[in-house]
Amino acid sequence: MQFSTKCIHGNGKRFSGDNTGAVSMPIYQTATFAHPEAGKSTGYDYSRLQNPTREQLESVVACLEGGLDALAFSSGMAAITALMELFSPGDNIITDCDLYGGSVRLFDNITVKNGVTITRADCSSQDIAALIAPNTKAVYIETPTNPMMNVIDIAALAKITKPRGILLIVDNTFLSPYFQNPLSLGADVVVHSGTKFLGGHNDALAGFLVVNNAELSEKLRFIIKTVGSGLAPFDSWLILRGIKTLPVRMEKSQKNAIAIVQFLQSCERVVKVYYCGIEGSRGYEITKRQARGFGAMITFEVESKALALHILKSVKVIRFAESLGGVETLLTYPFTQTHADVPEELRIKNGITDRVLRLSAGIEEAEDLIADLKQAIDSYNY
Ligand SMILES: *Cc1c(COP(=O)(O)O)cnc(C)c1O
Repeated sequence: MQFSTKCIHGNGKRFSGDNTGAVSMPIYQTATFAHPEAGKSTGYDYSRLQNPTREQLESVVACLEGGLDALAFSSGMAAITALMELFSPGDNIITDCDLYGGSVRLFDNITVKNGVTITRADCSSQDIAALIAPNTKAVYIETPTNPMMNVIDIAALAKITKPRGILLIVDNTFLSPYFQNPLSLGADVVVHSGTKFLGGHNDALAGFLVVNNAELSEKLRFIIKTVGSGLAPFDSWLILRGIKTLPVRMEKSQKNAIAIVQFLQSCERVVKVYYCGIEGSRGYEITKRQARGFGAMITFEVESKALALHILKSVKVIRFAESLGGVETLLTYPFTQTHADVPEELRIKNGITDRVLRLSAGIEEAEDLIADLKQAIDSYNY
């Protein structure tokens, strides 16, 4: 079955408990389920453990990522937090140096407190094999990275981790399963902030872990039911609805992103544009090999901090807000927003300066978005 069809119908299996013919998956807004008698269950006991609406969403996401199982969490961070419960004191995790700021905050403050050590590396250029210690249990990356758009060769990294029995974890939020499937490239766990492209409407938080290994799935199922961070029924339904239009949204957002990149490249006041679809850029060839598209995320550096702040204040159609991946085009200031908790030294080393802006292209008309950016940039006077 083709991807777009899977977005609408999942793996084709319908929830057998509903015989009304409802075309939209019903929202099972219930905390608990009654048992016919002692020792018998309908298969549903309590919504922290199982809920039909969440299960439907999980089966669709598993299908889109080519996974055996997907688990839906209350947010992307809840998913990553649950994932970290796989590790024990004394374990080591290698993480890429450019990651979503919330992930860095989690690793530096919570994961480390639990006795797990973190080794930071630039996985797009450093020799990762040389950094692996006897206690290394996982390598954690995003590609392209948030916000600097570095591209990491997933298959090449899997060649290092697989033979050593180390988990390769890929946060696939930026490209979404529409453009990239890390499991098929050798990753062991795919992470998503479902809040972003999967949900797509800036109206609900969600997170996912997708795996293709039964043992890993069982361990994570035990964790989600124990820590209780599963996604609520109504939010599961919102994300299910969002996913139905994922392919059309991704195509339109990418088309807008390409037009915006061309505009930004022509702006004298824009110093550098980071987008993995720029021919000749560092990640272009790898992206072409491992993904089906370049996505809708753009990072760009303007000539001064004052100009960056002026743009944030002056955009009218585009909104200045944290987050990405929705139908609305958003502009983010990573320096004080999404990446504020990344240690300053690392932020600067990664290139996240006070002149850097991140744009998530929505599905408005490119012409209006470009006109908005143009007036915001041009109206600044030194
Ligand atoms: C937003 C984001 C997260 C965190 O997800 P939430 O749903 O906000 O908790 C994780 N990774 C990436 C790449 C993100 O953009």
